[in-house]
Amino acid sequence: MVNNYMTRVYDKLSKTFEHETEFLQAVKNFLDAIEPVIEKHPEYEDLAILERITEPERIISFRVPWVDDQGKVQVNRGYRVQFNSLNGPYKGGIRFHPSVNQSIMKFLAFEQIFKNDLTGLPIGGGKGGADFDPKGKSDNEVMNFTQSFMTELQKYIGADEDVPAGDIGVGAREIGYMFGQYKRLNAKTPGVLTGKPIPAGGSQGRTEATGYGLIYFLLEMLIEVNESLEGKRVMISGSGNVAYFAAKKAMELGGVVVSLSDSDGAIYAQNGIDLDTVKQIKIDNRGRIKEYIDADSDAEYFEGSLWDHDIKADIALPCATQNEINEEQAQRLVDNGIKFVAEGANMPSHTNAVKVFKENKLYYGPGKAANAGGVAVSALEMSQNSQRLRWTTEEVDEKLKVIMKDIFKQALDASNAYDLDHDYAAGADIASFESIAKLMIMNGV
Ligand code: GLU
Repeated sequence: MVNNYMTRVYDKLSKTFEHETEFLQAVKNFLDAIEPVIEKHPEYEDLAILERITEPERIISFRVPWVDDQGKVQVNRGYRVQFNSLNGPYKGGIRFHPSVNQSIMKFLAFEQIFKNDLTGLPIGGGKGGADFDPKGKSDNEVMNFTQSFMTELQKYIGADEDVPAGDIGVGAREIGYMFGQYKRLNAKTPGVLTGKPIPAGGSQGRTEATGYGLIYFLLEMLIEVNESLEGKRVMISGSGNVAYFAAKKAMELGGVVVSLSDSDGAIYAQNGIDLDTVKQIKIDNRGRIKEYIDADSDAEYFEGSLWDHDIKADIALPCATQNEINEEQAQRLVDNGIKFVAEGANMPSHTNAVKVFKENKLYYGPGKAANAGGVAVSALEMSQNSQRLRWTTEEVDEKLKVIMKDIFKQALDASNAYDLDHDYAAGADIASFESIAKLMIMNGV
């Protein structure tokens, strides 16, 4: 970053939010990418475009008391970051994970602004969550916690104001409990949450959307350089919704998925993973990925990070969590033949890892663009709810394909316009920033 205005804004942020490392990382990545646009628009400084875009409209932080199965009262901290509503109601998931803090919430909400803009749908950027660990909790405890979380959150959301959905640790079960609690306390407005169970007003295809969308984005990356998925070896990390459905679609289209993981370890199956077994373990029974080796004696299990192992493959799809790939692990991927990286998680590659990808000319699809399928189908769920309609799986999937194709095109076109040689990360940031900056100017101060 050499531009004076940008440097000043970033220095100030890094002093004020010194401990918000993930937020600062996301902002720095973004500023580095949009530098040529700022150079072209010196008037943005007087309009304080960067100061406005990096300051959330508001942050709500609250106490979540609940009773565990032993009758003991527990307290967690909940958040909703309402970052930017220029494009429409705040939209973004809710994450339940012990690592949740203000920095992580702000980074996710910040990235959501640009991701949501890329979908072309009328949704602003937000994110929420709590430092609650769903691992090992009973169904009753999850319900108690989730209801208490919504008892406070419901004051700040609404179908036209802020529409949360799921993220790590929050799926249809949790959204179902939250929606039930919302309805107990308010009018029955199905559009207030997305990712709902289908009978409660959810959309067909929402559960699959992030994973499928990721593969549709990857297909565009492959087609662009005259490649296909057929026979390619694909490493995937994670084993939640995103990873599972990415694996499913990749296999349907001829890819060979050789790995999956969870926070304890990873499985590697040289000739491809059997997804029915994974479904039984992870999706149906909320078990651990290690159990896979009991069913497939040819597979291997490693403790710790998947990315610490030498696995020959063509494509890597990090679908677990932020900063899961560091610089050294990125170099290992390069050494093992990976040519394409597309991110199902949000910011899974550390900034230095992305540098390694770029230096080695890998084709890199950033989460902000590649994983937008989830929030895109959330926006389609909102449309269906407001129209009192239900679209078929095929209709939703068709729309998702068009959206992912268009996101790729926006990233590619912006990369070409600035002569960036297939830099889809910078392309995605530039395309969405240009549109948000214009909107900001149109709306006045
Ligand atoms: N949590 C997802 C994301 O990171 C989806 C958000 C939504 O559907 O609102 O984009």
